[in-house]
Amino acid sequence: MAQVVFENVYKSYQKNGSDDSQPGGAVLRAINLRIHDGEFMVLVGPSGCGKSTLLRMIAGLEDITGGTISVGDRVVNALPPKDRDIAMVFQSYALYPHMTVYDNLAFGLRRAANQDDRTTVGKSMDGKSDSKSRATLHPAIETFVVEFSRKLPKGWQYVTDREREIDRRVRLVAQSLQIEGLLTRLPKQLSGGQMQRVALGRAMARNPQVFLMDEPLSNLDAKLRAETRSEIVQLQRKLGTTTIYVTHDQTEAMTMGDRIAVLNNGQIQQLATPLELYNRPVNRFVAEFIGSPPMNFIPVQVKAPLLIQGLGNEPGNEFRMTLMEKYEPLLAGYDGQDVHLGVRPEHFSYGVPAPKNISIQVEMTEALGSETYIYGRLINSSETISNINIPIVARVSADRDIRVGEIVWLSIAPDKLHLFDPGTGLAIR
Ligand code: ADP
Ligand code: MG
Repeated sequence: MAQVVFENVYKSYQKNGSDDSQPGGAVLRAINLRIHDGEFMVLVGPSGCGKSTLLRMIAGLEDITGGTISVGDRVVNALPPKDRDIAMVFQSYALYPHMTVYDNLAFGLRRAANQDDRTTVGKSMDGKSDSKSRATLHPAIETFVVEFSRKLPKGWQYVTDREREIDRRVRLVAQSLQIEGLLTRLPKQLSGGQMQRVALGRAMARNPQVFLMDEPLSNLDAKLRAETRSEIVQLQRKLGTTTIYVTHDQTEAMTMGDRIAVLNNGQIQQLATPLELYNRPVNRFVAEFIGSPPMNFIPVQVKAPLLIQGLGNEPGNEFRMTLMEKYEPLLAGYDGQDVHLGVRPEHFSYGVPAPKNISIQVEMTEALGSETYIYGRLINSSETISNINIPIVARVSADRDIRVGEIVWLSIAPDKLHLFDPGTGLAIR
């Protein structure tokens, strides 16, 4: 197990470093990231932002244009993939078709044991080493005897200490991923979801320094995805292996990561714990990407020291809200300027008609029983659709029956709002 450190890493797919498709000439730029030993780190971002490239550079499948990547204490830039002691799972998986699930899970462990008898299997997971060993055979002879005796009935089989340790690990992983009942099957006797679990299990049964996972759940249906999500997290905690998990799905990121790095356009936007990201996004991109349904954004104008109001040129727009005092120093330079007010759907609640509240015309509702989502558009106080045409989604209590077309007043929790500079997109905080 090991920490993984990126120092000023760049990646360009073009030899001369100029990549016209990306501003700045590279698909990844100035990546600085320290992933702690044993941590579950999630890299999340939209398609094409560079997530897979980053992962493939750790594995050694892409070369590193600039900067260094270290695994443990070693800079791995020049190390071939097989020497990096890393296990990787991809979205599309390939199992060994002629091997049972059991042998697929054990494959990496057996190979590692054959390559180096001292490592990998000798370190049993709870730190105890099997010391009750018998007189040991030469590894090659032992492998032969094990293979040969596997065809015999159970009581006659020759089982080595290594094989016992492999068995323990295979069963732990199989149990965690709920594939114990499938151990004797061949891959062709499995569903897609089961195959993907076996592929995950095969990587996790090994005892590498680092697990890399590139959208491993995206082929699964929603229910299976949610289950497997928590199984991976629990198994990772048991094994304690540093894990870097890539996804475009913010729910996966929020539920799995110890910390999350949000990536966009080849750059890390924010690195934080899930709740920190949610509560204190550094910019509009993160604010919009994390959270579902996403944060609402309403353009407003600042009147120093503490007032925000509907954009001035909107006839009949009387929205005016006084902010909490902590905003006074932050807004000092914004008097008379436009900013974007950010409000998460759950930070609206039903309100009375008043200038401090907003009104929307409802276009769609989703009554979930426990709560209701209402989707609509901002209107101004003369009850015409606002000409700035802002969509709003609010999560409100379930006890009112809302109809499409209705006008609903909403109040904003003053301690939960966000403000963004419309030019830079940075949070004003
Ligand atoms: P993600 O995994 O976040 O969807 P990728 O890392 O696959 O993104 O890709 C990042 C960027 O690099 C994209 O613009 C993609 O088109 C480009 N890219 C990926 N692989 C190659 C390649 N082999 N050659 C050239 N460009 C590539
Ligand atoms: Mg990808």
